[in-house]
Amino acid sequence: MSKPANEEHWSDRAICRGADPEIFFPIGYGAPVLQAQIQAAKAICRNCPVIADCLSWALRVGEPDGVWGGTTPEERRYLRRTSDAPARRRLPAIVVRGDVEERTAA
Ligand code: SF4
Repeated sequence: MSKPANEEHWSDRAICRGADPEIFFPIGYGAPVLQAQIQAAKAICRNCPVIADCLSWALRVGEPDGVWGGTTPEERRYLRRTSDAPARRRLPAIVVRGDVEERTAA
């Protein structure tokens, strides 16, 4: 599906347009040189006017690779896990008839 000609998409304002894709898609995430690439990509993202839209999109589609919205795949997995988790609430006490003395009103 294509967008209407006059409709702007958040990616139209992405400051990474034209940047070296290898910065945003490093091959691994452990070696110091790759960490440097990730930090370089994140530095670009920090100045991007559409960082929130970009991160939201990457979380919504489950983008598995690359730096999007200033986050690595591992960071997005963490965000998805924690934001999808239901709020922890106290479970109601379950009383099975006969397990406890039934109290009668005085
Ligand atoms: S937040 Fe980063 S990856 Fe997303 S559009 Fe902006 S510069 Fe590109």
